[in-house]
Amino acid sequence: MVKRQETRRRTHRRRLFALVALALVVAAAVAVEILQPWRAGSPPAAGAPSGSSSPAGLSPTGPGRSASPSSARSVSPSSSAGPSSSSRPTPSPSLIAAAPPIVQDLVPYGPQRKAEMAAYSGRHFGEATWVLHPQAIVLHYTATSTYAAAHHTFASNAPALGELPGVAAHFVIDENGTIYQQVPLDVRCRHAIGLDWCAIGIEFVQPAGSGPTWAVAQIFSRARQLDAGLRLVAWLEAAYGIDATNLIGHAMANDSPLFKDLLGWHNDHQDWNAAAVARFKQAMVRAE
Ligand SMILES: [Zn+2]
Repeated sequence: MVKRQETRRRTHRRRLFALVALALVVAAAVAVEILQPWRAGSPPAAGAPSGSSSPAGLSPTGPGRSASPSSARSVSPSSSAGPSSSSRPTPSPSLIAAAPPIVQDLVPYGPQRKAEMAAYSGRHFGEATWVLHPQAIVLHYTATSTYAAAHHTFASNAPALGELPGVAAHFVIDENGTIYQQVPLDVRCRHAIGLDWCAIGIEFVQPAGSGPTWAVAQIFSRARQLDAGLRLVAWLEAAYGIDATNLIGHAMANDSPLFKDLLGWHNDHQDWNAAAVARFKQAMVRAE
């Protein structure tokens, strides 16, 4: 009798514990869903003032990725980890890279510029759309001595090689390591002929000076700028499932298997050659 009561009490306690545990799991799941829109963040309006650290236009699902909420959360910037972070599932190793701090300083890219980009895509790639699904990353340097000068050029939307829209890259990394986003990641922009249909562009602030080899060596000599670049690339590769072989320099663009231009255009830029990119990749491995 005593034994049976004891057993019943134990069974009751076990059920109570299971109920409490279930309630906690449900509460955590609800909290995660409620916080999701806030965590994802909407891209600020074009030309929005800087200060936000939420990258604009990051698609939660890269090519070939599932649309599960867990993968969307794991590419969110780590700085925004909210109260729900403890209930998050452990991200898969390929998604571990966290977003570095990113300052939003988007150039004007309204319907007119998007239409210009779609028309450019139609002429050069045979597909009239401005929508970007990133598959590659192209490294550049600005050939300017300041971030402001590069941003001004990208914002001006002046014709390049006689065509609109004007040139721009998605990110510019200042000499002090500050990363400024210029264009949302789901929008194409002109930074590398033949690859703008599929490539994210990253510019390092660096004057042209004594030539490409010298210029890239200057970037490697600035630890904070280099480190910001390594972290940005690691995060983008993880977020979009971009293969390391598709991290290239502008000087390598014509030889990329992803290169295409229906009008026969080619790049004549020498920024970031194969040796420089190989050195960057070695630094990425060391930084892991
Ligand atoms: Zn370039």
